[in-house]
Amino acid sequence: METYNIAVLPGDGIGPEVMDVTLKVLDLVAEHHQLQFSFQKADVGGTAIDQHGTALPDPTLEICRQSDAILFGSVGGPKWEHLPPKEQPERASLLPLRKAFSLFANLRPGLLYPSLIPASPLKPEIIPDGIDILCVRELTGGIYFGDRYTKVLGNNDIEAADTMIYRKSEIERIARVAISAAQNRKKRVCLVDKANVLETSVLWRKTVSDYMEAYAPDIELETMYVDNAAMQLVRNPSQFDVILTENMFGDILSDEMGVVCGSLGMLASASLGMLENRFAHPFGLFEPAGGTAPDIAGKNLANPCAQILSAALLLRFSLGLDEVAAAIEHAVSKVVNGGTRTGDIAFGGPFVSTTEMGDAICMALSA
Ligand code: NAD
Repeated sequence: METYNIAVLPGDGIGPEVMDVTLKVLDLVAEHHQLQFSFQKADVGGTAIDQHGTALPDPTLEICRQSDAILFGSVGGPKWEHLPPKEQPERASLLPLRKAFSLFANLRPGLLYPSLIPASPLKPEIIPDGIDILCVRELTGGIYFGDRYTKVLGNNDIEAADTMIYRKSEIERIARVAISAAQNRKKRVCLVDKANVLETSVLWRKTVSDYMEAYAPDIELETMYVDNAAMQLVRNPSQFDVILTENMFGDILSDEMGVVCGSLGMLASASLGMLENRFAHPFGLFEPAGGTAPDIAGKNLANPCAQILSAALLLRFSLGLDEVAAAIEHAVSKVVNGGTRTGDIAFGGPFVSTTEMGDAICMALSA
């Protein structure tokens, strides 16, 4: 039996609670599908600062290196907010992990089940069937990584600049990710750019359309300016299947999409790298879109769905276990649509605990 090595980094706040429930779900699907998962747990974030003096200790990084993928909880909290920005748990663990594994592709599913429509700030008539979008964002290039400066000019004015640089190879690399994701969805990609103004966007348009014409003629490609995309996400989000975009536009649009989809407790994310693991799939880090929720941490109140759905993405993208991932996703939707709710999605009605939600999902998987 093949053994899949998964680095498990629960982190802080609600991280350990939702991770425990998620590992139970993974153990159960392993049993059902004759798989073997080997979980290597390691400290990260504030917990790691307390235990080892640093947010990403070397042994944790080494465990990640020995693994096929990383299942990450979330990090940070009031206890570590006094630290200098560079030493803050999020910055000092997630950024080095992204760098160490060249995680260039960020995938954020924007999923809103029809039964959770009241969680969205949008009017129900705009989203009668809920929302199902995948945002694919380039994560290691563009303006966040280009040269920058601030300088005082001769006339005592001040000038600052940030440079947005993209290479054709970088664009093709992320286009491949969007294409492969679209193949398993509705086969539609919307490239979001600002090609009426930016040179980099002109390159994105040409590169993506040439690449898709050559290698993915079955995928429908649409292009949209970013200002229009921001508007369309609130006017008619159902028109999107896969959104493909560069780093800064993706940063903004994926957060907007998260808000439109309602609760953070339901939203998963994946960051994929170039490195192929033993199974010829990209290495990746999989984590909930939300943070450590200090307001409810330690109370068995957190919604574990985002973490469980992140584990499903791990199975699909890094281990190639699409069927097992789909079984987990189906169980989560069945439980939530069936009315079992944690507090964040209960709309004032009765709600269950983190562990009870996990048990309900395990029961749905076993049914
Ligand atoms: P947050 O996402 O932790 O919480 C915002 C709100 O959403 C809170 O009311 C919280 O209770 C709720 N929420 C989030 N996840 C939930 C879940 N699974 N179930 C139920 N409710 C949930 O954002 P914040 O309060 O701005 O940040 C808290 C800490 O988390 C900060 O230290 C921040 O730096 C950190 N953070 C970490 C990450 C990460 O690890 N990737 C991401 C965002 C924030």
